[in-house]
Amino acid sequence: MKYVSTRGEAPETGFAEACLAGLAPDGGLYVPKEWPRIEPARFGEPYADVAARIISAFAGDAIPEADVQKICREAYASFAHQSVAPLTQWGPDSWLMELHHGPTLAFKDVAMQLIAKLYDYLLARSGETLTVVCATSGDTGGAAAAAFAGAKQSRLVILHPHERVSPVQRLFMTTTGAANILNIATDSDFDDAQAIVKSLFADRAFARTVNLSGVNSINWARIAAQSVYYATSQAQLRGAPIRYVVPSGNMGDALAGYVAARCGLLTGGFEAVCAVNENDALARLFNTGRMTRTAAVATPSPAMDISVPSNFERVLYEITGRDAGAIRHTYAAYAQSGDAALPDGAQTKLSCSGLSAASINNGETLAEMERFRKETGWLICPHTAVGTALARRLPKKDVATVVLATAAASKFPETVAEATHHDAPLPPRCEALQGRGEVFERLPSDLGAVRARILEFAR
Ligand SMILES: *Cc1c(COP(=O)(O)O)cnc(C)c1O
Repeated sequence: MKYVSTRGEAPETGFAEACLAGLAPDGGLYVPKEWPRIEPARFGEPYADVAARIISAFAGDAIPEADVQKICREAYASFAHQSVAPLTQWGPDSWLMELHHGPTLAFKDVAMQLIAKLYDYLLARSGETLTVVCATSGDTGGAAAAAFAGAKQSRLVILHPHERVSPVQRLFMTTTGAANILNIATDSDFDDAQAIVKSLFADRAFARTVNLSGVNSINWARIAAQSVYYATSQAQLRGAPIRYVVPSGNMGDALAGYVAARCGLLTGGFEAVCAVNENDALARLFNTGRMTRTAAVATPSPAMDISVPSNFERVLYEITGRDAGAIRHTYAAYAQSGDAALPDGAQTKLSCSGLSAASINNGETLAEMERFRKETGWLICPHTAVGTALARRLPKKDVATVVLATAAASKFPETVAEATHHDAPLPPRCEALQGRGEVFERLPSDLGAVRARILEFAR
């Protein structure tokens, strides 16, 4: 199995290299050179077994299948629910896919638990040590910290926007006590933190010195790992046509659905609606055919306060028939002026891709959390509420609607209290967090300052 960059100017590479690198050296994102055909999940097939089959298909001969199986079993043993991503029904034709049973109560755990094990395996084989750097809008950082704490072959650097993540989100990433983790709070929003990470990767000398690697949602292993729950949900609903509603930011989760469909895992067809908050760049992109940069605004669903949906590049690559030149051209224009039209014909093809997007405002989000509680008795997190609010708006159709429940309500107790006047206590397995001391450092949103600190940490 070979991987190519969406910008077409990086050499072909293998699964291990594509995963460990994160971003391709030409600034593009890695995708498989050809889509593998993968057998759909069977009803009742254990989650870790489905994961092993899918990851093996993407790894090709890079890792023996028995080793992939072992990695997947270990990764998903850390979940508090044995089916990992259970479906629960909330309406006559509507389900939640609960992706928050991992150690940090958000769907980021699903991929990160696997990646950390995969990295340890690959790095032990090559004898390397890596510096993993990630920018987080809240949940990736915690999931990465939980997964990489104490890793032998890698150290982890997290950049989070200061005071733009919820206190519980912060607790998950600042209390591991692990010596191999450095947490930096930057005085900026998530997009600026992500821009710093991109610049670190672009600095080849620096990247070589610290052996830089990325686990942001552009990392191919994350997309591959997230395609698994699309496959298992299709099996649970016995092959029925499903309309997924995906609370979206960087669009990694929605892309994983697209990938699952491309590999033959979704036998009922493919439809995924990206639900975004007031940071509606993705909805505007789908609906106007233009990529326009605007500053991110803070909303009740902070993990989706993103104005540059990075994984859209992979979708664009596919719908243009893998025209790397058109991708380079579009993203160069976007980088220069913050505004670019999609290549000719792309918007029409986009409308046939099964993907679409729409925005839900802050008031609707909070009202939905309360409405959902009244109807079902359950508390949902604000990101999930963006999804269920949008699901209610979609035209009636003879399909099962599956909303991805991307985090637990207890991760956002302040917002839950504001919206519903109810408490959302942490589950007992997470209560110990509150007694531990937090460790993080504040830095200005400045590339030089961050780079210098990482160099010192990696020494
Ligand atoms: C990361 C995150 C999202 C957005 O996911 P993307 O893959 O970036 O689109 C939505 N909800 C929660 C709770 C998240 O942590």
